[in-house]
Parts: sequence; structure tokens; C-alpha cells
Amino acid sequence: MSVHKENLPIIIIGAGLSGTLLATRMAQRGYDVILIEKRPDMRKVDISAGRSINLALSDRGLKALRLIGLEQEILDLTIPMYGRRIHDKQGNTTLQSYSGRANHFIRSVSRQDLNIKLLNAAEQSGKVKILFESPCTHVDLQKGIVHYRDRGGNTKKIAGQAIFGADGAGSALRNSMMRHSGSLRFSFSQKFLKHGYKELTFPAWKGGQHCMDKNALHIWPKGGYMLIALPNLDGSFTVTLFLPFEGENSFEQLQSPQQVIAFFKKEFPDALEHMPNLSKEFFEHPTGALATIKCFPWQTHGKTLLLGDAAHAVVPFYGQGMNASFEDVTILDELMGTSFDEDWLKLFKRYESIRKRDADAIGDMAEENYYEMRDKVQDTTFVIKRKLDLALEQTFEDYHSKYALVTFQEDIPYHLAMQKGHCQDDYLMQFSSNLNEEFADKINLKILKLQLDKKCPS
Ligand SMILES: Cc1cc2nc3c(=O)[nH]c(=O)nc-3n(C[C@H](O)[C@H](O)[C@H](O)COP(=O)(O)OP(=O)(O)OC[C@H]3O[C@@H](n4cnc5c(N)ncnc54)[C@H](O)[C@@H]3O)c2cc1C
Repeated sequence: MSVHKENLPIIIIGAGLSGTLLATRMAQRGYDVILIEKRPDMRKVDISAGRSINLALSDRGLKALRLIGLEQEILDLTIPMYGRRIHDKQGNTTLQSYSGRANHFIRSVSRQDLNIKLLNAAEQSGKVKILFESPCTHVDLQKGIVHYRDRGGNTKKIAGQAIFGADGAGSALRNSMMRHSGSLRFSFSQKFLKHGYKELTFPAWKGGQHCMDKNALHIWPKGGYMLIALPNLDGSFTVTLFLPFEGENSFEQLQSPQQVIAFFKKEFPDALEHMPNLSKEFFEHPTGALATIKCFPWQTHGKTLLLGDAAHAVVPFYGQGMNASFEDVTILDELMGTSFDEDWLKLFKRYESIRKRDADAIGDMAEENYYEMRDKVQDTTFVIKRKLDLALEQTFEDYHSKYALVTFQEDIPYHLAMQKGHCQDDYLMQFSSNLNEEFADKINLKILKLQLDKKCPS
């Protein structure tokens, strides 16, 4: 346990996914923590509207949950998804496995179930106090003081020995840094996609049965837009429509129930069969925007540090935003274990210097994967390339596709996964462009692997 130089608590803004995980870990390290959360307690009030309902959890996220002793409890709440099940217009489906290895798959988990477990874990530590309905308004970066409004609307302030901004994509701490952008040389970029998203549902069949294969992430790719579906434990699927805001086939074109039904009938007829509440949900649920946020520095004066979406929001197409946010806590904790010495400034500087390139890498790869999921999953060269990826994974223990490096190799930093993954992808795409599907099965994998090792060394 640490010896504390100061008696002030640690303050964490945001009791979402990364804030609660960090709070629990800090409590395990012996710190008193105050968590400031703008929303009500989700264990008492339903606040799910408008947030993504389920998420793909993979090995980087699981590693962080293991750190706080919560991995098994969370695994019990998940549904394995072994690959992408692609739906074509005729209603035929094919499964594209995520890996050539049976133990490599991702899992669907309810955001709310996960957040509740994390809130409970934080409170059960006995060292975390959570202030709900208390939005942070701004932070005094020099003095390390958080300003917030309490439940009664009164303005309050509280000092901390270290302040963490885990308050998501619209971070109040980041806004305070922006206000001093000149003196901090604070860089910020927010890049919106032209596409937004809307969450819909395939309800469970009677008896809680799933209406489709529950062990896959379902995709209806359409070139310029797509539908995806992830399973829930209650037998339903959460379905997300990704569609441009404007133009032909866009949200702006879908203004009436008739237009929505006609659009689904034309584009996603087999999905429509499972959507009795489509037009009601379509007009009741919000349309969300998707953006990549990058900024730097993440710390100021050794007093404050951004993490999770507050530091690096990514678009959801690699299923890594939460996993990366959880990994932030793992990395920070590893540094505390080696070179901390109660020096927050040294710790924060070291953290941002090694973590920034990984956050940038996953941000870039998530954008690339958007185009892959939308446009390429049915492309012949891409399908052959994925086939070779899987065959290589099945044959060679040390081969991992880019997807596997990102998703299942939790000890490889994102930026290295990206470097190696891009190199392999470029080579295999080039190689596959000269093949037809039949011939792909006859490739000498040993020679191909030797060529890849030469081109893309570790
Ligand atoms: C459609 C969609 C699908 C996604 N799918 C996946 C997926 O499959 N896999 C994956 O890994 N990631 C996914 N993500 C990304 C994931 O949701 C985020 O990366 C993750 O929630 C980030 O966690 P966080 O703790 O940083 O922020 P959040 O989970 O957003 O938590 C922030 C918390 O801070 C609170 N807060 C905000 N402002 C204030 C304030 N001023 N004062 C006090 N509290 C405040 C909020 O109420 C919230 O509780 C998806 C995102 C979207 C939009």
C-alpha cells in the first residue's frame, strides 16, 4: 500500500466505465476517492435512453477488469460472438470468423450491467464516495480544485491531490484545458463522420429465445451505410443503423413512418421481419453523431489528467473505445507500480508520453474499420485475404491478423499492432488480388508466412 504525501482525496470526474474502474483501482492502492457524476445513480433511475445499449468487450478490456478482480463476474454477463455474420440482400448469411483460433472471440455486454458492477465494486471498496447528479462545471488546473453543482443546484468546490477527467467525449476537464489552450499549448481536434447512428431493437422471441444466431455480430453492409446487431442476455438484439445525415439514403430522407418502413423493406428486408416496433423506435430514439477526438497534452501541472473518451474518443467500428479506455487504467497502474514514487507530475508525463501514440493508432484504425465493415466485407479480394489470414492463424502459432493483434493481443501496444497489421494487410491484399477463391485454398502457406515474416518483422 502507498504512503501518501498528501491527505487530500483523489477526485475522478465521471462515474462511467473508465471512471469507476479507475476509482476501484485507486481505492485498492489505498487512496480515498471522490467520484463526481452528473447523472443520477443508474441503479435507481433508468438512464439508458440514447446511450449505446451493448458493447463488444475484448481482451484489453478484460485485462483491466482482471486487475480489479472483476473479470469473472463480468464474463458471466457476456455473450460470445465468434465472428461477423454477413447478411446479403436475399437473406443469405455467411460467418466471417474473427480468428483462426477457437479461444479468440469478442463478447457482447450490456453497458448498464457493466457500469452497475463497476459502481458496486467502487463503493464496496469502502474508500470511494460517489456524488451523483453533481456535474463538474470547470476545474482550476493550477490549484487542483474541481467546481461542480450539487443536487440542490448549489455551486461547490473540492480540492484533490490528483484530478482525473473520465467524463467522456464532452469532458468538462478538457474544456477547462481548452480555456488555457495558449499557455498549455493545448491541441484539440474533433473529426465528425458524415454518418450518424440510431439504436433499434429485435425483440426476443417468446421464452426469451434469440431470433437469429446469438453468437455473432450481425452486419448488413450496404456500401454507403449499414446495419449491425449485437445480442443481449434477455434474447433481444440491439440493432444500430449507421447512415449519412444528409443526401440520398440518409436520415434526412426518413421523415415519416412510411419512409422508414419502405427504406427497411428495400434495403434490409430480412431485418425488418424482426422489427415490430421499428417506426416507433425510429422516431423516439435519438440520432447520435460519431467523432474522433484527439488532444494533447492530457495532463496539467501534475494535478490533472484526462483519460478514456475525454482524452481520445474513437468511432465505434473496431469495438475498442471502452477497451482502450479500460486499458488506460491498466497502463497508468503499471506505471504506478514501477516509477511512481508519489510524484504525480512524473507519472502523468510518463503516461501521456507513452500512451498518446496508442490512442492515436486506435483512433485511426477505428476510422479505417468503418470503411472495411461498410464497403469491403463482401469484396472478393477482401474475402480471400481474410481466408488467408485465418488459414495462417490456424497453421502458425505466431501469426496474428491485424484484427487479432488489436483485439486479442492485449500486451501489444496499439501502435505496434497497427504497424504490423498494416504491413501484413498491404501484402496480403496485393497477394489476394491475383487469386480466385478456389485457388486460395491451395496456397503454400509456409512460403507465404516466410514472405510475411521478411516483409513485416515484429
Ligand atoms: C454507438 C456506440 C457503440 C460503441 N460500441 C463500443 C464497443 O462495442 N466496444 C467498445 O469498446 N467501445 C464501444 N463504444 C465506445 C464506448 O462507449 C466509449 O469508449 C466508453 O464509454 C468510454 O468510456 P469513458 O468512461 O471514457 O466515458 P463514458 O462511458 O462516456 O463515461 C463518462 C461519464 O462521465 C459523466 N460525465 C460527463 N460529463 C460530466 C461532467 N461535466 N461532470 C460529471 N460527470 C460527467 C457521464 O455522465 C458518464 O457517466 C461505442 C460507442 C458508441 C457511441
